[in-house]
Amino acid sequence: MITSERAFGPKEIARGDQLFRCAFAFVKGVVALEHLPPMTLPEIAFAGRSNVGKSSLINALTHHGKLARTSNTPGRTQELNYFEDAAKTFYIVDMPGYGYAEAPKAKVEAWTQLIKEYLRGRRTLKRVFVLIDSRHGIKTTDDEILDLLDECAVSYQIVLTKADKPNATEMTAVREKTSGLIFKRPAAFPLLLETSSVAGDGLAELRAAIAGCL
Ligand code: GDP
Repeated sequence: MITSERAFGPKEIARGDQLFRCAFAFVKGVVALEHLPPMTLPEIAFAGRSNVGKSSLINALTHHGKLARTSNTPGRTQELNYFEDAAKTFYIVDMPGYGYAEAPKAKVEAWTQLIKEYLRGRRTLKRVFVLIDSRHGIKTTDDEILDLLDECAVSYQIVLTKADKPNATEMTAVREKTSGLIFKRPAAFPLLLETSSVAGDGLAELRAAIAGCL
């Protein structure tokens, strides 16, 4: 099993740190493919179930308290939200949260369609970071997204979020289980990342991973 511990040297950490020193700004929210920005910059995307801690993580990574909207109303954002660094190096794409039980069927279908088309056609998409809540591990709806990513041959990497919540034994268990589940997936990057937006853990490694794939 590979975890983020010791996976990055000081050079990679410094590169990641440098990349995220810039100010980040919201570019646009995209609800239909024709509104996507031109494919001029590389981009990385964040996906995850509603409430997984995606907005908190984007805010923590970018040192920006309110860049992505954190919300207690899961399933609200149905757009691909684009953010850009001031140096115009890359885009961060905040994908709409999925798996919200009360989401109307039509909304889920529209979401799935948008995501499929986005993943299939976006040549500049370097990697999707799929966030998984450390307390819950990979659920069926996560599996569906991972299937889609494998099908579209889009490189992706798992990030276990809210790593401050489980105790050490629970964390080891979810880490091992998740590693086992992604091991055979063709488009999955084997290194698992672990973050806590609250404690700040794992952010430097995630920044380094992002810098490494741009
Ligand atoms: P999103 O729906 O995926 O964008 O999730 P949010 O970022 O809005 O977070 C959902 C809830 O989880 C909020 O109540 C956050 O305060 C909480 N949360 C987010 N990240 C963390 C974390 O790293 N640790 C803990 N303990 N709570 C978190």
